[in-house]
Amino acid sequence: MSSISLRSISKTYPDGKCAVRDVSLEIEDGSFVVLVGPSGCGKSTTLRMIAGLETISSGVLEIDGERMNEVRPKDRDIAMVFQNYALYPHLSVEDNMGFALRMRGVPKKERAARVRRAADLLGIDDILRKKPGQLSGGQRQRVALGRAIVREPKAFLFDEPLSNLDPDRRVSTRAEIRRIQRELGTTTIYVTHDHEEAMALGDVIVVMKDGDVLQSGPPGEVYDAPASAFVGAFLGSPTMNILCGVYRTSAGSGLVEITGVGEGDPLQIPTREGHPAMTDGDPCLLGVRPQLIRIDGDGPIVGEVVDLETLGFGTDVSIRAGEHEIRVRIEGGHGLGIGSKVRITIDPGSCHLFPPG
Ligand code: ADP
Repeated sequence: MSSISLRSISKTYPDGKCAVRDVSLEIEDGSFVVLVGPSGCGKSTTLRMIAGLETISSGVLEIDGERMNEVRPKDRDIAMVFQNYALYPHLSVEDNMGFALRMRGVPKKERAARVRRAADLLGIDDILRKKPGQLSGGQRQRVALGRAIVREPKAFLFDEPLSNLDPDRRVSTRAEIRRIQRELGTTTIYVTHDHEEAMALGDVIVVMKDGDVLQSGPPGEVYDAPASAFVGAFLGSPTMNILCGVYRTSAGSGLVEITGVGEGDPLQIPTREGHPAMTDGDPCLLGVRPQLIRIDGDGPIVGEVVDLETLGFGTDVSIRAGEHEIRVRIEGGHGLGIGSKVRITIDPGSCHLFPPG
């Protein structure tokens, strides 16, 4: 177990591409940190620099207070699990799991005991004699995990380890990864582009875009208080509505004015405490989650249903109001159909105010 510290880490590839810019993170001993963001945002590069598979262009990486920049990957004592869990096809599961220990000269008896403990934890005792070719994708993924666990490393690094699994298996395996990490208490850094996976797994999530860290913190906190429209829209499903508006002050209090909503134009939504400071006339973005918008008889916004998605437990409704399309998630179906006229209410208390950009 160990703490990992990244101080102003950057990576510029030889072709001049700056993949990671000035990233600083303090990863506490035993915590589960998830790097999340769209493809190409620099997650894997960050993880690979921690593993030692990429050189660090500038900044300092420390594990347990010791500088790691120049330390070879095999001497960093961390175990990495990839999307492609290359197992040795000619070795049994047991030998695959014990391979790294054998290379290090760990005696046979101890090796067998550590493999058995990991197999027990993963529930794969019954396949120890099989070869990788005889296993399902899910079983192979467990063996890859087992191989990392038996090493008893200072930290686990996971790079999209569930991408090759079908959706059901992804959900069950991620729960298992979380359970095992809690049980072992090993510091873990996990990379995914999937916001749900990130929220489900992380003690802390780190949202990245274009090589920058935009925001980090416990998933609930980042979800409830996104610092930018990008983070608000990236986390959560269905996607947060982002409406372009103008900030206005009147009688000492602030409001956001949104034009082009059709009847009742312009829509005025008072701002609340905690919103970023703005001055009269500033362009701004108003974010509101579809779950928090109400369809009701006397709402100020009038619109027409243009799309419906039935979810079983509820319905996702897209409503066109003037120039805007607003997504609303409701319970049940309200007897709505395409073309239904509805009124909706946006509660100021559920709105987020963001600077434009
Ligand atoms: P992610 O893991 O978030 O999908 P990566 O860290 O793999 O993103 O890549 C970040 C950026 O760096 C991307 O624009 C990618 O094309 C670029 N990149 C990755 N590896 C190399 C490389 N070896 N040489 C040049 N550019 C690279």
